[in-house]
Formats: sequence, C-alpha cells, structure tokens
Amino acid sequence: MSEVEKAQEAAASAGEDTIFGKILRKEIPCKFIHEDEKCVAFHDVNPQAPTHFLVIPRKPIAQLSLASAEDAELLGHLMIVGKTVAKQLGLEDGFRVVINDGKNGAQSVYHLHLHFLGGRQMQWPPG
Ligand code: AMP
Repeated sequence: MSEVEKAQEAAASAGEDTIFGKILRKEIPCKFIHEDEKCVAFHDVNPQAPTHFLVIPRKPIAQLSLASAEDAELLGHLMIVGKTVAKQLGLEDGFRVVINDGKNGAQSVYHLHLHFLGGRQMQWPPG
C-alpha cells in the first residue's frame, strides 16, 4: 500500500471526511432514491450498468474490513434497503451487489458503500 493510500485509510478510519460525507450532509447536491435514519441510496455518477446505485450508511465506516460486530444489524439493513430499491427500480431479473474493500478490492471512496448493478446480463468471473 502506498503512503497516500495508507493516509487515506487512516483518515477514513479516524472518521474524517470523504465525498460521501459531503453528500450525507447535503453539501454536494445529490438526489436520494432512498433515505432513512440509518442510510441513503443514490445513483452512481459513473454507472457501470443501466442501473447502478449505491447504498451507504450514515455512520462513517471506512470499509467493510473495519466494520465491527456491533455493525451487524446496520450491514443487514443496507442489504434489505438495497434489494427493496432494486425492486422499485424494476430489477426483477436479478442484480449484482458489490463491496470493494481496500487497495486490492479497488476501493476508491473510503466510506463503506454497497454497489447495486442491474439491467444487463452480468458475467463471471469479475475483472
Ligand atoms: P468504489 O470504487 O467501490 O470506492 O466506488 C466508489 C463509487 O462512487 C464509484 O463507482 C464512483 O463512480 C462513485 N461516486 C464517486 N463520487 C460520486 C458522486 N458524487 N455521486 C455518485 N457517485 C459517486
């Protein structure tokens, strides 16, 4: 891991800000497709499928590998919200859920988020 990446991770785990923090505080305009007391969902700005949205917790967990056992209910909530939004958006034929973690997971924003991708046939293995 590079020094920059280490600093990013350290900052994120110390609860410092990311672009998703700004979105949560509405400092950056973003149309939420779901909002509740624990999380929000919004469309990815750079979609990798006809439908591509993110579900993020309000709690600033930097990445899945830094979540703790006390986050179990919250993590489950994110998946239930995501599958509900997927249905609302018409992803009746299925979808893919992705969490990128850390450097090897190609994570770029160090605020935990679930990607929901659908509207086309997915391939396996992923790149
Ligand atoms: P990851 O690479 O897993 O950390 O994913 C970060 C995702 O956030 C990418 O798919 C980006 O396209 C997306 N993203 C970054 N900034 C924004 C934004 N302002 N609004 C919506 N999505 C964003």
